[in-house]
Amino acid sequence: MSISIKGLNKVYPNGNHALKDINLEIPTGMFGLLGPNGAGKSTLMRILVALMEPSSGEVNIFGHDLLKERQEIRSLLGYLPQDFRFFAKYKTYEFLDYAARLSGMNNRRKRKEAVDAMLESVGLFDVRERYANKLSGGMKRRLGIAQALIHNPKVIIVDEPTTGLDPEERIRFRNLLTAVSEQDVTIILSTHIVGDISSSCKCMALMNKGEVAYYGSPEDMLKQAEGKVWRIQINGDQLHDVDKKYPVISTIPSGTGWEVQVVADEIKGYDAEPFPPNLEHAYVYYMESKLNRWTND
Ligand code: ADP
Repeated sequence: MSISIKGLNKVYPNGNHALKDINLEIPTGMFGLLGPNGAGKSTLMRILVALMEPSSGEVNIFGHDLLKERQEIRSLLGYLPQDFRFFAKYKTYEFLDYAARLSGMNNRRKRKEAVDAMLESVGLFDVRERYANKLSGGMKRRLGIAQALIHNPKVIIVDEPTTGLDPEERIRFRNLLTAVSEQDVTIILSTHIVGDISSSCKCMALMNKGEVAYYGSPEDMLKQAEGKVWRIQINGDQLHDVDKKYPVISTIPSGTGWEVQVVADEIKGYDAEPFPPNLEHAYVYYMESKLNRWTND
């Protein structure tokens, strides 16, 4: 395991209990941390990169105790925060050069080689002369990854990286992360977007209200939702009733009524046929069963 988290709690000074007894084993490769806004993902990320202390618990990263060996751990980590910004005065290559200098690369020639190679590998070499704050959203995220990777960390932590990206840039960014994870780097990818997880992560955790609701592979999460997704054919008047009783995933006009997909252990009072789940369904299934929203009447 590259990272081991035991009994982690975080209570903010205002009393918000943001993390409640988190236990996680994070293997090498790409690890997905999925959960709605407010689940506690950023809190966990900030603790892992030693920007904030937990209220209690232990974190071990590649054999180092996070609380006792912060300096060693910082050198093992790269971090791309959610609200990563660039200074207006830096061109793309200058920014990366600056990040490289900060990480202690003092030899100018070696630094230039490393910066050029990194720009090439994240697909920004051709725009290296452009001011960093003038790059497109997707390019900025890729530059963000480049600065997190420039000192060859063993772990990189990426917080909500695809928010606001168009589909093409999102796919390109995911492919970049997959390529990085194949180079023996552990990536912790925090996201509220289910699609970010499915294709690339072998292992994942689902967080909700400061707790781990699921830990395992995306495939196993999917399996647990088998037989819990239903397709119901209803008329317009019934829509309100179905929506009240069951978590509705999609509503498609069909003939004079609607074809509705819902998740539930069982459906009563409607003619329902089972539907094969995808990860989005499984996510809703977990969230809803954790929130105890089921009604069976
Ligand atoms: P996520 O990243 O999953 O959206 P966060 O870690 O940002 O979740 O937030 C988890 C919980 O902690 C939320 O209820 C949020 O309101 C609360 N929280 C986050 N930061 C602070 C803070 N600085 N002070 C008090 N409460 C906070």
